[in-house]
Amino acid sequence: MKRLYDDNLYRFDIPQPSYWEATASGIDVPATPLQAAESCDVAIIGGGYTGLSAALHLARDYSIDVRVLEAGHIGWGASGRNGGFCCVGGSGVHRKDLIKLRGEGNARDFYRSQVDAVELVRQLANDEGIEYQAFGEAELEVAHTPRAFERLQEDHEILSKTLGLQSEIVSAGEFRERFFDSTEQFGALVQRPGFGLHPLRYCRGLANAATRRGAVLHDRSEVLEWSKTDAGAHRLLTSGGSMTARRVLFATNGFMPERLNPEFYGRTIPVISAIIVTRPLTDDEKNAHYWRTEHPAINSRNILNYFRLLPDNRFLFGGRGHSTGHASGERQMAAELAATLRRFWPAWSGVEIDFSWHGLICYTRTLTPCIGHLDDDPSVYFGFGYHGNGVSAGTWTGKQLADWVGSGQPPALPEIVKGLGQKFPLASMRLRYLQLGLALSGWLDRRA
Ligand SMILES: Cc1cc2nc3c(=O)[nH]c(=O)nc-3n(C[C@H](O)[C@H](O)[C@H](O)COP(=O)(O)OP(=O)(O)OC[C@H]3O[C@@H](n4cnc5c(N)ncnc54)[C@H](O)[C@@H]3O)c2cc1C
Repeated sequence: MKRLYDDNLYRFDIPQPSYWEATASGIDVPATPLQAAESCDVAIIGGGYTGLSAALHLARDYSIDVRVLEAGHIGWGASGRNGGFCCVGGSGVHRKDLIKLRGEGNARDFYRSQVDAVELVRQLANDEGIEYQAFGEAELEVAHTPRAFERLQEDHEILSKTLGLQSEIVSAGEFRERFFDSTEQFGALVQRPGFGLHPLRYCRGLANAATRRGAVLHDRSEVLEWSKTDAGAHRLLTSGGSMTARRVLFATNGFMPERLNPEFYGRTIPVISAIIVTRPLTDDEKNAHYWRTEHPAINSRNILNYFRLLPDNRFLFGGRGHSTGHASGERQMAAELAATLRRFWPAWSGVEIDFSWHGLICYTRTLTPCIGHLDDDPSVYFGFGYHGNGVSAGTWTGKQLADWVGSGQPPALPEIVKGLGQKFPLASMRLRYLQLGLALSGWLDRRA
C-alpha cells in the first residue's frame, strides 16, 4: 500500500530500537495474528493508546465483543516510542490564536478536556494496576530568548485567567535555582497537570487491562483491504485471515493507511519526530547545569525540542526528524539533535548517545484533533490528530469513542474536536508544503 513517506517508516515487522523497547521487557501482551475468517461486534484498526483505550472501555464498561487489529506488535506505532510526556496540549495552534479563531468558550472546553485526559491516564493506571513509572509533576515550557519569555508571560495570563488552567511564571534566576540552567534558558512557564511516564509500559499495561476485561488483540495483522458485505457489515482482510464486524474504529493516527478508505485520504500530515537518549548522567554532570528536576520540559522554539531526565539518570532529547524518512536522513537528524543538546548543555559534550529512533506525529488541517463517525457511514468511528500530545489525548479519545459506541449516544465532545475536519488541498503535495513550512519555521528560529 502506497504511503506518504519512505517504506522504511512502515516496517511493521521491526520494532524501533528505542530505550523504551530495551526497558519494557518482561511485560508480555497476550496477542496473536488473525489466522481465520472471524467476526465480532466492534473491530478496531490500530493497537496504540486510542485503539487500546477504546478496547478496554468497550469490553470493561459495555461488555462488547471487541477485537483489535494491529499491523506490528502492540504499541509498534507512536504509542510505543514517544517522549512519555503526559501533559496538556493536543493542538498545533497557539493558545491565543485558538481563542481568536474558535472563541473563548470553545477554547476553554478544549483545554478542560485536555486536563481531563491527563487525569484519565492517572485514574486508569490506578484502577487497572498499570506500572508506568511516573516521573515529575508539571510541564516546563522554557523561554529560548528574552522575547519568548515576554510571550510566556502573556500566555500565563491567558492560561490562568481565560482558560482556567494552573500555571506559574518563573524568572530565569528562580528557574536555575529550582529546575536547571542551559545556554537557552530565559525563564519559563510551569504548567499543571503534567508528568512523564514510560510510554511502552503504559501501552502494554493498557493492552493487558483490555485483554483481562475480555478484548481480543491480534498483532502482526495489517488490514490490507476494507470492504462492505451485502448485509452491510465491514470486512477487514489481513494476510492471515479476515474480520467481519458491525462497527469499525479507525485508530491509526500518524501511521494512517489512508488509502484503505477514501474518506480518510488527505485528512492528515504525519510529521517525523526524532529522539535520542544518553547514557546515565553522573551527579557531577547534572550539577554542572544545576539539574534538579524530574519534570518533563519543552522549549519555546517554533520547531521545538522536548526533553526530560529519566528515572535512571539518562537524558531524553527530542525534536524534528527528517522530512523524507530515509534511513540516512534520520541518522543525520540524530546527529543534529546531539549537536543541539551539546549546545544547550556544553558540560555534557562528552556524554555518549546510547539510543536514537523516530516516529510519526499526526497533524490535521485545522491543527486540532478530529473525533467522530463518518456522515455517510455512521458505523465507522475515528479519532486522530493529537499534534504530539496523544499519550493523554489518545487515551481520552479512545474512551469517548467507546462511550459513543457502547451507549449509542454521542459524548459531550468539545466543538473544536468534532468531526472529520477538512482535506488538505492538493493532498499529493503534502510533503512539499510541509518541507516549506519547516524551512520557514527554522529560519524564524534562527532569526530570534
Ligand atoms: C517521536 C515521538 C515523540 C512523541 N512524544 C510525545 C509525548 O511526549 N507526549 C505525547 O503525548 N505524545 C507524544 N507523541 C505523540 C503520541 O505518541 C501519539 O499521539 C499517540 O501515540 C497516538 O496514539 P494512537 O493510538 O492514536 O496511534 P499509534 O500509537 O501511532 O497507533 C496506530 C497504530 O496503527 C497501526 N496501523 C497502521 N496501519 C494499520 C493497518 N493497515 N492495519 C492495522 N494496524 C495499522 C500502526 O502499526 C500503529 O501501531 C510523540 C510521537 C512521536 C512519534
